[in-house]
Amino acid sequence: MRYSQYYIPTLREIPSEAELASHKLMLRAGLIRKAAAGIYSFLPLAQRVLKKITRIVEEEMDRAGGMQVLLPIVQPAEIWKQSGRWEVYGDEMFRLRDRHRRDFCLGPTHEEMITTLIKNEVRSYRELPLRIYQIQNKYRDEIRPRFGVMRAREFIMKDLYSFDRDEEGLNRSYQAMYEAYERIFTRCGLIFRAVEADSGAIGGDVSHEFMVLAPSGEAVIVYCEACDYAANNEKASAALPPAATEGLLPLEKVATPNQATVPAVTAFLGVTPDRLIKTLFYQTAEEYIAVLVRGDDELNEIKLGNLLNKPYRFAPPEELAVKLDLPVGYVGPVGLKEKGVKVLADLRIKTMSNAVCGANVKDYHLRHVNLERDFAVDTFADLRLAKAGDLCPHCGHTLAETRGVEVGHIFKLGTKYSKVLEATFRDEDGEEKPFIMGCYGIGISRIVAAAIEQNNDQDGIKWPLPIAPFQVTILALGQEQQAAAEEIYQELTAVGVEVLYDDRDERPGVKFKDADLIGIPLRITIGPKRLAQGEVEVKNRMTGEEMLWPRTEVTSQVLACLEKMHPGKTD
Ligand SMILES: [Zn+2]
Repeated sequence: MRYSQYYIPTLREIPSEAELASHKLMLRAGLIRKAAAGIYSFLPLAQRVLKKITRIVEEEMDRAGGMQVLLPIVQPAEIWKQSGRWEVYGDEMFRLRDRHRRDFCLGPTHEEMITTLIKNEVRSYRELPLRIYQIQNKYRDEIRPRFGVMRAREFIMKDLYSFDRDEEGLNRSYQAMYEAYERIFTRCGLIFRAVEADSGAIGGDVSHEFMVLAPSGEAVIVYCEACDYAANNEKASAALPPAATEGLLPLEKVATPNQATVPAVTAFLGVTPDRLIKTLFYQTAEEYIAVLVRGDDELNEIKLGNLLNKPYRFAPPEELAVKLDLPVGYVGPVGLKEKGVKVLADLRIKTMSNAVCGANVKDYHLRHVNLERDFAVDTFADLRLAKAGDLCPHCGHTLAETRGVEVGHIFKLGTKYSKVLEATFRDEDGEEKPFIMGCYGIGISRIVAAAIEQNNDQDGIKWPLPIAPFQVTILALGQEQQAAAEEIYQELTAVGVEVLYDDRDERPGVKFKDADLIGIPLRITIGPKRLAQGEVEVKNRMTGEEMLWPRTEVTSQVLACLEKMHPGKTD
């Protein structure tokens, strides 16, 4: 492709609305343009990247027994009402009405649609298993779309749904998808990690996320340095520390004037935060709930939500002060039951003894507080956010943290959708049974942003070869080098190399800047001095390695180099 005839609207200035590197670079390198908040046009370079990712995904889905279909984006409300998610999705669902005043939505996901389709078509166990997938736009009206295509309202997704007759079948489908996902992200040239995840709104019991590792990633991954345990920190758990073995000391009320925060009160009393019980208040429609976590821990609201399994919200301190006579900053678990508050506690509360907590009296704390003797708990559960330094729940080794961008998520759904949508098949024994389902998503457009997030520097993008819009870019520095550049362009194109030939009438500085920004893996520079010596300069954008090649060997060297740059290849 000749640059002069191609549409790459690069920008010199850094767009002010962009926070993440990938968002800035996708705008600057002329990959995307914003149409509305969270809604983007993909320009020619980006479309080439999307097509390469799509092809890898299609090949691996087909290899894993998937069959590609195309389901409607516009979906009737009835199937969503039947599954109960017409209400659950709330404002995140784009809704519309046709001229007959019938309700529809723009598909945020397709469990209802595919389950209804299969329900009406598949009758017998003989037709199973089925693995059906599609690649198309999805719509979610995010409350705060941001980070460019990373958290957009319209995005491209691959979603596969598996239908099996029993749990063993589901396990086989899940395993096949897990392995296909590992191949996909490896083939894309990305460094990734599969982690245990919370199932969220999609539901089901078992799920894994595939994370592209990047320091700017939204998700925190907690992983073991000794075994293969890895989980999203929304889901991660840790082994309990040993219980304290101190003898119980008598309960003491101590004055702590104006010491209303964890750091303040622990410093004032000369104890470490792990000796303090933090008490947080929430409320449901029925009651107030106190949640106890250790002073050095953070409450994990996802775990709390899963435990409560109903809507809840943070209880405003002013309301607690008025209704329950609980002073802000001085609350604690002692006496809460008597006020009719339900008490939940993280498992670590059990291991504490002679703890510190608020006295439920302004400017006072309690010392030497002990479970059972001084306060009671209704339910214990794992409610804290796991973090680096915790102990692995599998092997006891220390856990570490890293960050990532979620690009894939797979779920074992079981009968969650087949039951409510009454999707059954006749099994070998003649009995009608619900399909056992799984669903498996990949954010195709998100991979583009994640790949950039993982691979960039101050000058621009560094595309991994398999998903780069072009493999090689050729820069001719002056008019006198155009003939040689043209020849090399023709030679490389003839052997199937994807070349972006910068034939523009621009200064060398402009060409170098654009080449770095766009991030094509191999850059061949044809300058007057080297060309006179029968050589060209070559730079590997990913590694920064610079090479000098004889003009006559360019084609064979490029082919050897591309072969070596493929994922999984080593020197
Ligand atoms: Zn471990």
